[in-house]
Amino acid sequence: MKVFDVHVHFGWWESLGEKDSIDGWLDELVRACEEAGIVKVGLLGWSTLGNDAVARAIEKYPGFIYGMAMIDMDEESPRMVNEYHQRGFTGLKLISPALNYDDPAYYGFYQRAESLRMPILFHTGIIGGPIDYLMGGEEDEWKAIPVGEAEEKLVQGLKDQITMKPYGKSSARMQPIYLDTIATYFPKLYMIGAHLGWPDYITACAVARWRPRLFFDISGGDVVQRHILEGRYIGREIRPDKLVYASDCDLRRLKDNVLGWKRAFDEMGMSAEDQEKIFYGNAARVFGVEAAE
Ligand SMILES: [Zn+2]
Repeated sequence: MKVFDVHVHFGWWESLGEKDSIDGWLDELVRACEEAGIVKVGLLGWSTLGNDAVARAIEKYPGFIYGMAMIDMDEESPRMVNEYHQRGFTGLKLISPALNYDDPAYYGFYQRAESLRMPILFHTGIIGGPIDYLMGGEEDEWKAIPVGEAEEKLVQGLKDQITMKPYGKSSARMQPIYLDTIATYFPKLYMIGAHLGWPDYITACAVARWRPRLFFDISGGDVVQRHILEGRYIGREIRPDKLVYASDCDLRRLKDNVLGWKRAFDEMGMSAEDQEKIFYGNAARVFGVEAAE
């Protein structure tokens, strides 16, 4: 089974987005993908440093790495879309805008991406934080719930960070319904909403039903996977044709993640043909990769 993973963040999980998360990570990605049967990766950067690291990865592994440049639409110009295209990036990754995704202030980015045939991966739904108040430290120790002084330090750190950002940053800006507006005005643009809109799955499914080039990925960890499976959305609310496999997890969990979904698809009686679409075919189409590859 061939797998196209459309949602991989460059860097070691514990220090994502930081300078020291880059070292040695790419070699480990290649190894982990081999083990998991992943033959193509949508690799996401972050402003400047992370996108540069992705650019180097594209050069090193053409046909394996498909670069997704992260653009900050509040700080950068739509011209950057052309620049990343020239640098060999396949698409864009968007997250945490200060205005709703469908605000006309952002149309310049979408218009350019549409005309350059660059797919956009949008984070949709609730954005995670440093501490997991549902699962605690079950998955990763550093997500454990702090108490006392450590808790005070946590919120002070969050306060210091947020005062540096433009007002408006919130999960509320990234609802799947906003992709409906964008799909309506930019119908040729290929879009992937991440995490099936978590937790607004029904809206995500309903929008995907009527917009030709809007897809959703199934990443988001155990909780999102449980929602998708227990909600029985696949097949009833959204066809496999509109879903793409994505891991968005630590490399250590990559293989189990692929196998877990494979097992779930088998258990729900999904045909091999539909599984192929979710694991590879749909993403290949979104990313403009020919079937022959
Ligand atoms: Zn992600």
